[in-house]
Amino acid sequence: MLRPGPNVAIGAPEEGSLGKMAAKKDYYEILGVARNASDKEIKAAYRRLARKYHPDVNPGDKGAEERFKEVAEAFAVLSDPEKRATYDRGGHEAFGPGFDPFAGVRFDFRDLGLGDLSDLFEVFSGSRRRRPRSSRGGDIQGEIRIPFVDAVRGTTVSISLPRRAACTACSGTGRGGGRGPGAPCRACAGSGAVSTEGRLHVRIPPGIEDGGRVRLPGRGDAGASGGEAGDAYLVVRVDPHPTFRREGRDLHCEIRVGIARAALGGTVEVPTLDGPAEITLPAGTPSGRKLRLRGRGVPGRGSAPAGDLYAVVQIAPPRKLDARSRQILEEFERRNPERP
Ligand SMILES: [Zn+2]
Repeated sequence: MLRPGPNVAIGAPEEGSLGKMAAKKDYYEILGVARNASDKEIKAAYRRLARKYHPDVNPGDKGAEERFKEVAEAFAVLSDPEKRATYDRGGHEAFGPGFDPFAGVRFDFRDLGLGDLSDLFEVFSGSRRRRPRSSRGGDIQGEIRIPFVDAVRGTTVSISLPRRAACTACSGTGRGGGRGPGAPCRACAGSGAVSTEGRLHVRIPPGIEDGGRVRLPGRGDAGASGGEAGDAYLVVRVDPHPTFRREGRDLHCEIRVGIARAALGGTVEVPTLDGPAEITLPAGTPSGRKLRLRGRGVPGRGSAPAGDLYAVVQIAPPRKLDARSRQILEEFERRNPERP
């Protein structure tokens, strides 16, 4: 091979500088059309080559991506009468530095039946930081109301949640589905997903509080182009209980105690989640005294110990008094004149 030495003429200096530019291929050669090709011929060539080298068809193929960019650039220039005339006059050098062949160009790639614009703009921008073509589905959220005791003990609920599911007609691709491989799917209008009402059976863990959320991984909207599905969240609303009030894992309730029992002490009945329990009331228990029933609150779970049940004493006088009872109480008051 002849190597240019000091005595070997390799042509005029201008040709040498043009040689440096040879890295940039001729637009007509890129599209494989004659210099006098019609607009129609140029468009047809572009369409054929863009499909062939489209990144969706050649995932991860850097060579194909470069070819695709070349084809798009050649088409951007040659499909524009003004830019084409400039190029015909002076080739690549006719455009000044900083020339953007895509300036003012609005590609409509949809008729290629491939990919979407966001993919292509990333190719043009030359950025290698390309987003994955697949995308995760959205999260969905529903709300359910459950009885107090179910929240304490845990339960299983069944709920319908509207979500976007992968279109079965096109297997979630958004294309084909009876209209030919490239056309948008008729069933999902090309989105790859359809609205559906999915019934979920959800295990509500014991001890959930009002407003607590249960996460259902992967039960949200379907992902696009193989992306993973989003999550479903179920917000749990807990009905109040006629007897119990909850504070964390502790339960609180009131017990009404007659004046004699409060004064004398004895056995009283306390409601618990497992039914009434009997406890011993000390003599002289005042109103408002809290009686603790250890471990009778919300059951323990994991590292959280079971809560306690607090029964708050309310001393209730009798609503009606017969004559004899009145006599006894009047006698009692005479014998105990001071306030307690
Ligand atoms: Zn579809």
